[in-house]
Amino acid sequence: MKKIVTVLVAAMVSVAAFAQPQVIAHRGYHAIKGSCRNSIEALKQAQKMGLYGSECDINMTKDGIIVVAHGSLHPDKIYRKGEDIKRLNIQKSTYEELLTIPLENGEAIPTLEQYLDQLKKSKKTKLIIEIKNHATPAKETEIVQKTVEMVAKYGLNEMVEYIAFRPWICFELKRVAPEGTPIAYLNGDYDPAYVKGMGISGIDYKYDVLKKKPQWIKSCHKRDLKVNVWTVDDEDKLRWVIEQGVDYITTDNPVLATKLIKEMCK
Ligand code: MG
Repeated sequence: MKKIVTVLVAAMVSVAAFAQPQVIAHRGYHAIKGSCRNSIEALKQAQKMGLYGSECDINMTKDGIIVVAHGSLHPDKIYRKGEDIKRLNIQKSTYEELLTIPLENGEAIPTLEQYLDQLKKSKKTKLIIEIKNHATPAKETEIVQKTVEMVAKYGLNEMVEYIAFRPWICFELKRVAPEGTPIAYLNGDYDPAYVKGMGISGIDYKYDVLKKKPQWIKSCHKRDLKVNVWTVDDEDKLRWVIEQGVDYITTDNPVLATKLIKEMCK
């Protein structure tokens, strides 16, 4: 009898196990002392955890330097309470001007080059680069071209994936990045058939969008599109996206995501 129960339980567990999604630290692993969003330290910490990916946002300054920052303002938020910190519009400021305001952890605002220097130090963790919307299509083409060239110069083509809200940025990435480079669309408004038609590799949609349209996950997989979801931090939501079989989870809580995946997946 005991044996039968054991076999039954084992069968139930195997039925309940889900495919294993990859974890991407949203703006790096920042929820730890000494780290903060989009800092070099946040990438370093994601690498130290051995995560699949570390996400970051990039913007181009007025003088054409690509910096890692969420924007549109730097700093991203007022972190020293009670202090009147001047905030600069990244795309309308020079790099020198941005350097006058450190990040929350004391680092200078990182350039993409500095980020790639750090990326090179691990063979495991990929960098998921979000190219932010810019004022004109020409500016967006410029940041795409510069970024793709820089990544190639660093020999990191295999270590970088791209995401963007703007279809134009996705199209320009598709045009200039090496064949097969992963590119995912963020804005949540196109269905899988349309995204397939864009010629890119997948969707990276907000949790609420997939919660409303969970059928899009299977529909993507049927079309050989990958599914990433942002930004999933709570246990209930993490469990739900794991059960739905997404390919990637972008989270501010990579520790919990990793723990739940270990528990729930094969
Ligand atoms: Mg982002």
